[in-house]
Amino acid sequence: MILNRRRFLGTATAASAALSAPMALGQAKPRVVVIGGGSGGGTVARYIAKDSNGAVDVTLIEPSRMYYTCYFSNLYLGGFWDFDALGHDYGNIARTGVNVVHDWAVGVDRDAQTVALASGESIAYDRLVVAPGIDFVEGSVPGWDVSQQSKMPHAYKSGTQAQLLKHQIENMREGGTFCMVAPPNPYRCPPGPGERVSMVAHVLSQTNPTAKILIVDPKENYSKQALFEEGWERHYPGMVTRIGPDFGGNNVEVRPDSMEVVIDGQVEAVDVCNVIPAQKAGKIAELAGLTDASGWAPVLPSDMRSRMDENVFVLGDASAQGAMPKSGFSANSQAKVVANVIRGELTGSRIFPARYSNTCWSLIATNDGVKVGANYEAGADQIESVSSFISQTGEDAELRQQTYEESIGWYNGIVADIFG
Ligand SMILES: Cc1cc2nc3c(=O)[nH]c(=O)nc-3n(C[C@H](O)[C@H](O)[C@H](O)COP(=O)(O)OP(=O)(O)OC[C@H]3O[C@@H](n4cnc5c(N)ncnc54)[C@H](O)[C@@H]3O)c2cc1C
Repeated sequence: MILNRRRFLGTATAASAALSAPMALGQAKPRVVVIGGGSGGGTVARYIAKDSNGAVDVTLIEPSRMYYTCYFSNLYLGGFWDFDALGHDYGNIARTGVNVVHDWAVGVDRDAQTVALASGESIAYDRLVVAPGIDFVEGSVPGWDVSQQSKMPHAYKSGTQAQLLKHQIENMREGGTFCMVAPPNPYRCPPGPGERVSMVAHVLSQTNPTAKILIVDPKENYSKQALFEEGWERHYPGMVTRIGPDFGGNNVEVRPDSMEVVIDGQVEAVDVCNVIPAQKAGKIAELAGLTDASGWAPVLPSDMRSRMDENVFVLGDASAQGAMPKSGFSANSQAKVVANVIRGELTGSRIFPARYSNTCWSLIATNDGVKVGANYEAGADQIESVSSFISQTGEDAELRQQTYEESIGWYNGIVADIFG
């Protein structure tokens, strides 16, 4: 049965069944193209190449030669981790048999099944995986756009922004104010801003103890809030103030030239300002026509297949899938499901029911680690949480240290799983 796009939208189950037939023998090798070599894209490319033993032709398109993980970049800000330790290259992915192309994907022709590159080349696919991470919603923080990121860094994407932010924190005047403009939901790494505040407070409490941290937050509440607030009170008393929506945290404008933040009409002078804007799927997902009005790319919960196109999968932060947080752990977990499904469809190997999982660890102070996590399954419309856990306030120091050590084990494991 051949399905056109319109019929596919309403007949996901039938579509999956129809697509699970392998390609005919004698046909050229099936081709998979992956856009984005981050946590999701790197994993899916490596797993398909590794597990299909050369039966599938896999191309990974990624502009950067080094991927710097956002995870543990807060620990780098806090002085617990080296910047170089965040960096991973694509050598081992290429050695697994993936054709790694360092370029930007600039367009997708879904009818012709080709991806256009900035170089002018075009690459054909039988299945496309789109994993470009996030972009920022223009105008979401009045006064800020990417041209201001050197004055007011976001440090919320892979790359050198974290180095700039660290430099600014280290050079802040004595008794100065570090301000974070926190993002609205949904955004990548829900506990990321809280962990960042913890790590900045850790550094300032040692080098600049009269400095202040101001969080301007449009959200009523945020991930691990009770754990962070308890930790800030214990380790950095009096240093952190949060202005939530009740006090105008949802009405903020920034003035990078004068280093001012206007909160509900009141002007505050700040010394360092970390602006984390509202987020949406990486732009290529939108250019490919895979996003909806939310700015994210809706997918089927059973296999992360795009609701717009049966030959395309969207995974990681760019996808709208339901209950999973946007995290490196989630992207890696989703990528293994997608790799299993694509390999099954293209080579006839067995397809297993999707199971997803996630844990997000955060460091609050030296050896004071906390975590939140869950297991997930495909619900009728969305991915749903089936069991979850979270660290508790009042836990003893030994458990917190174990949790921190567990996070280091996780980091080493996941980067080996993605990058080989
Ligand atoms: C401060 C911070 C702390 C975090 N801590 C954690 C943590 O402790 N645990 C955790 O699990 N997650 C954490 N995260 C979240 C995690 O980094 C992301 O959720 C994860 O990287 C998402 O994976 P992804 O593959 O969707 O996107 P990414 O990893 O961002 O990868 C996307 C890739 O696509 C490429 N790309 C974009 N557009 C194109 C294009 N047009 N053509 C080709 N390539 C393109 C980009 O260059 C990039 O390499 C943290 C994030 C931040 C900001």
